Amino acid sequence: MKTIVLGGAGFVGSHLCDALIAQGNEVICVDNFLTGRRDNVAHLRDHPRFRFVQRDITEPLALEGEAVFHLASPASPVGYRKNSIQTLRVNSIGTMNALEMARQAGARFLLASTSEIYGDPQVHPQPETYWGNVDPTGLRACYDEGKRFGEAATMEWQRVHGVDARIVRIFNTYGPRNDPQDGRVVPNFITQALRGEPITVYGDGLQTRSFAYVSDLVEGLLAAMFTEGTAGEVFNLGNPDECTILEFARLVKKVTESRSEIVFRPLRFADDPARRRPDITRARTRLGWEPRVPLEEGLRHTVAWYREILGAGVGG
Ligand code: NAD
Ligand code: UDP
Repeated sequence: MKTIVLGGAGFVGSHLCDALIAQGNEVICVDNFLTGRRDNVAHLRDHPRFRFVQRDITEPLALEGEAVFHLASPASPVGYRKNSIQTLRVNSIGTMNALEMARQAGARFLLASTSEIYGDPQVHPQPETYWGNVDPTGLRACYDEGKRFGEAATMEWQRVHGVDARIVRIFNTYGPRNDPQDGRVVPNFITQALRGEPITVYGDGLQTRSFAYVSDLVEGLLAAMFTEGTAGEVFNLGNPDECTILEFARLVKKVTESRSEIVFRPLRFADDPARRRPDITRARTRLGWEPRVPLEEGLRHTVAWYREILGAGVGG
């Protein structure tokens, strides 16, 4: 099958390109390197079924394919604050361009949305039916309101134009190729631990997240795209195994065997969600999908990759 991955040079997108190639598909990977890295797809460059197109998807797109995965958007809070207007543009204009391309090509479509559309949730865990608690003018709004617009657009292209489109709401995902400098908690803690620097917990560390390993997420993206009869549906994709950020810092110390101290710093943004955990009942029942990689095991693979890129033997 001819597939198109928008944002394919990013952390998740590059793993998705690998999986699609491994399954025998053709892949057109589109990216403008706003937050992605050329290195993430360098190993695919000469593959006969892989093509890279450097393009900003806020410009109109015309590519032929049978399935369009739309993952193009900054994803880390540091990344979307630095690129706030680009984040609004790619999630609005870029998403409509992507939908229009899918309509013209007669392709299936998947929007990579986010757990951030639930904002600072007042319902726990979060099912897809929850409408969320979002500050429309806050520091996260460029991202979470951008994604909410993208979801609305996806539903209208499905309703009005009959595009075979679905939405997945991705919860915190980690793994190799997550840019060590993008400011998210997993790259921050691992690089700090490996360098023997203080591990910076923002706030009291009692806020929670639920971390999914990237291979689990990629299986979920494929299941959501290719399960028949899922047009117009929304799926949470994440690992329901919830932990506090302080517990996570301790686990990173253990896995890296680091002597770094854990220090507390002020919260980066006032609207830091206090708790986040997906209800994945729908993905389990409709897609037959659930995450398989336990946090400690996924962290070991991830730490191995960071060790490699930071220089072997960097100890704490
Ligand atoms: P990432 O920043 O590594 O990847 C995003 C990619 O999109 C980058 O390669 C970037 O250069 C590209 N991009 C951005 N704007 C573009 C534009 N205008 N034109 C072309 N390419 C553009 O982030 P990621 O973690 O891989 O996230 C991928 C997707 O999954 C994003 O849409 C994100 O919102 C969503 N998501 C990720 C997570 C997570 O934990 N990783 C959680 C929730 C949602
Ligand atoms: N965080 C932290 N130290 C860091 C980076 C992040 O304590 O060095 C916290 C952050 O305040 C948030 C959680 O870890 O509560 C997850 O942050 P991340 O930026 O990974 O993504 P978010 O889930 O907030 O979008």
